[in-house]
Amino acid sequence: MKSLVKLHKEPGIWLKDSPKPEVGHNDLLIKIRKTAICGTDMHIYNWDEWSQKTIPVPMVVGHEYVGEVVDMGQEVTGFKVGDRVSGEGHITCGHCRNCRAGRRHLCRNTEGVGVNRSGAFAEYLTIPAFNAFKIPDNISDELASIFDPFGNAVHTALSFDLVGEDVLITGAGPIGIMAAAVARHVGARHVVITDINPYRLALAEKMGATRAVNVSNTKLEDVVKELGMTEGFDVGLEMSGVPSAFRDMLDKMNHGGKIAMLGIPPSDMAVDWNKVIFKGLVIKGIYGREMFETWYKMASLIQSGLDLKPIITHQFGIDDFQKGFETMGSGESGKVILNWD
Ligand code: NAD
Ligand code: ZN
Repeated sequence: MKSLVKLHKEPGIWLKDSPKPEVGHNDLLIKIRKTAICGTDMHIYNWDEWSQKTIPVPMVVGHEYVGEVVDMGQEVTGFKVGDRVSGEGHITCGHCRNCRAGRRHLCRNTEGVGVNRSGAFAEYLTIPAFNAFKIPDNISDELASIFDPFGNAVHTALSFDLVGEDVLITGAGPIGIMAAAVARHVGARHVVITDINPYRLALAEKMGATRAVNVSNTKLEDVVKELGMTEGFDVGLEMSGVPSAFRDMLDKMNHGGKIAMLGIPPSDMAVDWNKVIFKGLVIKGIYGREMFETWYKMASLIQSGLDLKPIITHQFGIDDFQKGFETMGSGESGKVILNWD
């Protein structure tokens, strides 16, 4: 089968024939229709320090996808051939304390599709049926293919009550922009998003941010004043992984504010802990998506009118994958989709 493989320990990715994956007793075989390129795939493409430590070579990469069930193991129930599915990319152990308590997103033995095991940038993918999520008919293949990062946005954004609250999002990458759209949809008042990339800030405004602030030329405190916010932000969603953005967030939070942190800093990050203590801030780390509450929320947010379409800015056929990675790397894009059908 056709597949995108990390074949060499150097920058790049290669379109190559791989054997069709074997279907275990509890697995689904999924024929992939569309995949999307994640920031993680860019790290793997660029072969940065993290990838060198993490990614086995050779390996099929990719974890954002939609496809159709074409076969399944003998123990699988609840799915049938022809079901349209995406899937949770974190394969959990099922036997640790958190797994057994139903808190699968906190499993300490998680394996990542397209990170620690064979991924979705291929004509076929197998995953445990447990990890699959059936896509309702009225949700398009395009949107279904980005449920993984949309889930990061939803898990983070819905960590705290947003109704009537003022929300600060640092980082207008695809996930930050989707989080802004979610925050507005569920009833936040001001949704201020920051970045240093004008293309992405414009997209964030189009998708519902009240103010998109370029912190390389505008002071966040001026925007806060303009909006008439006298006390600071109630909820912060850190989605950049940039230490200066997080420090700025701590500075602008109201007392008793709540912060959910998704962005991954490159290394240790110094912050003024006195701000956390004296403001009585609550800080929550976010990894992945809740299984499967976040998935249900994603489907129902779209069914209740959340419009995510503008976040998909580019689509390429799989033979043009190189253009897809270049577009994603340029910063002048939202989500980039690769079509396999
Ligand atoms: P991204 O890299 O596309 O977005 C990060 C954005 O931050 C970029 O648009 C960048 O221009 C912006 N930025 C740079 N400097 C900034 C500054 N000073 N202030 C504000 N913004 C600034 O990434 P993404 O795919 O949208 O993901 C967002 C973050 O979440 C990344 O750090 C990613 O690694 C992380 N992530 C975490 C999980 C998890 O499970 N915890 C899952 C997916 C992604
Ligand atoms: Zn576990």
